[in-house]
Amino acid sequence: MKRLIATTLTLSLASAAPAFAESTVISPNGSRPSAKGSAQFFTGSVVVDPLYPANGQTSSSGGLVTFEPGARSAWHTHPAGQVLIITNGTGWVQEEGGTKREIRPGDVIWTPPGVKHWHGATATNGMSHIAITNMADGKNVDWMEKVTDDQYLK
Ligand code: MN
Repeated sequence: MKRLIATTLTLSLASAAPAFAESTVISPNGSRPSAKGSAQFFTGSVVVDPLYPANGQTSSSGGLVTFEPGARSAWHTHPAGQVLIITNGTGWVQEEGGTKREIRPGDVIWTPPGVKHWHGATATNGMSHIAITNMADGKNVDWMEKVTDDQYLK
């Protein structure tokens, strides 16, 4: 019992004054500036908030992408696949040859490597998703042609 008390005392002292340099990194909200989605790759108004870059330990990068109603990506593929986690609003995702599917907060979408697709808001509601995109040979996306209004509204 005496030993337990001694251990507890040591731990509480340790948390008051860290005895080692922590390696856990917190990237604070507000430290990573928002960027506008390029008109070359997106239709409509899109804001990209970078979350984390790929580095020596992880081959994925993360970003929060916010689409206003009617906004969407161009057609594209990911050489090493992509995870989308819907965080807000209502959106659509479609792969080439497939049907346009509705996506909502909490939905998690996996697009395998090389599958041509687009994602964005619906025509009437905005949508935000976190995109976790894997890197292959220093590249995480191959952009293609824009999604036409006919394709988008079909
Ligand atoms: Mn994608």
